[in-house]
Amino acid sequence: MSAHQKNTELIKTEAKRLGFLSCGISKAEFLEEEAPRLEKWLRNNMNGEMQYMENNFDKRLDPTKLVEGSKSVISLLLNYYPEEKQLDGTYKISKYAYGQDYHYVIKTKLKQLQEFISEEIGEVNGRAFVDSAPVLDKAWAAKSGLGWIGKHSNLLTQQVGSFYFIAELIIDLELEYDSRVTDHCGTCTACLDACPTKAIVAPYVVDGSKCISYFTIELKNELPAEFHGKFDDWMFGCDVCQDVCPWNRFSKPHQEPLFDPKPELLSMTKKDWEEITEEVFRKVFQKSAVKRTKFSGLTRNIDFLKK
Ligand code: SF4
Ligand code: SF4
Repeated sequence: MSAHQKNTELIKTEAKRLGFLSCGISKAEFLEEEAPRLEKWLRNNMNGEMQYMENNFDKRLDPTKLVEGSKSVISLLLNYYPEEKQLDGTYKISKYAYGQDYHYVIKTKLKQLQEFISEEIGEVNGRAFVDSAPVLDKAWAAKSGLGWIGKHSNLLTQQVGSFYFIAELIIDLELEYDSRVTDHCGTCTACLDACPTKAIVAPYVVDGSKCISYFTIELKNELPAEFHGKFDDWMFGCDVCQDVCPWNRFSKPHQEPLFDPKPELLSMTKKDWEEITEEVFRKVFQKSAVKRTKFSGLTRNIDFLKK
């Protein structure tokens, strides 16, 4: 067994032990296939007000420009599919935001993986990324064989669907590289048909500026009147295209206690949400990613839904 193979095996085994669903590795190089797609998407203003997506165009496509001397991109998936869901018929938040903010939970695990690499393999330089603008995490995960990018533009696997976070370690160590898996969307169009705002404008093309996730989380201004009544009761994010995807029948509940929701989150009715106070907000979303919208953002969304 070569040193590359041995190190690759060590890293993948440790990633599993740390609780990651899977780990795939690619050579750190310019993302040739992704470049024209990203350029076209930005040219058509599908990023809406998400200006940060236009920044660092070169760095986003080439990890060696982002992390000097980098050789490998290690992609990792962490399951967030919850065992219990919110009440039926209430205002909804995306399942990824049920528990504690994933940025911190995953960063801790990535740090542990980096420490393991330093101890077992030697001094390795690199950087960890969690849902961070300069890294095209879905493209890297797909290149590393962790799944394919579905027509709803999320990473998708036959084994566990799509309810997981994607994170990366970009390091200056050469490893064994994985190859892509095939696309299994076939003739299915369930996500395109179900999207409440018709944001999936064509297979594999999501107009971010029409997506409920963008409206409820990213958009700072008033919500656009023409979308009134089209949010399907989503007050933070939206899971519709993933919920209807047949591959998500294979989602299994996560085993990460930090992703468990506060009990109040599961029991609040529409009326409770409409009457939410800042104090309740702070309690229910303590350490949660929902804090990103602040109390004012969430109540703006709820007001838009109840009108
Ligand atoms: S998250 Fe919701 S609004 Fe956005 S593309 Fe999917 S179904 Fe459409
Ligand atoms: S719903 Fe169907 S088309 Fe959409 S991502 Fe899933 S399998 Fe692909």
